Amino acid sequence: MFRIIVFFLILYLLYLTAKKLIRYFFHIESLEKDKKNDRSDGITELVKCSVCETFISKDLTIKEYKNNELYYLCSKACQEKFKG
Ligand SMILES: [Zn+2]
Repeated sequence: MFRIIVFFLILYLLYLTAKKLIRYFFHIESLEKDKKNDRSDGITELVKCSVCETFISKDLTIKEYKNNELYYLCSKACQEKFKG
């Protein structure tokens, strides 16, 4: 009788492990899909702040024109310095 209980316990543990593995692999697949989407959109481009030379995502920058050239600034403080 005891052996049968152990056998079912092991089966149950195997079942749990398999479930975790399947979830793990599906998770990896969805992550890879997300990465591909990011690449095709090309949103996360980094640019350098013209004042303090910090790299920052292009979406978050303040854009300023000076002498018909476009400059990227990371913060209002840097914008003030740039103008000043
Ligand atoms: Zn800056």
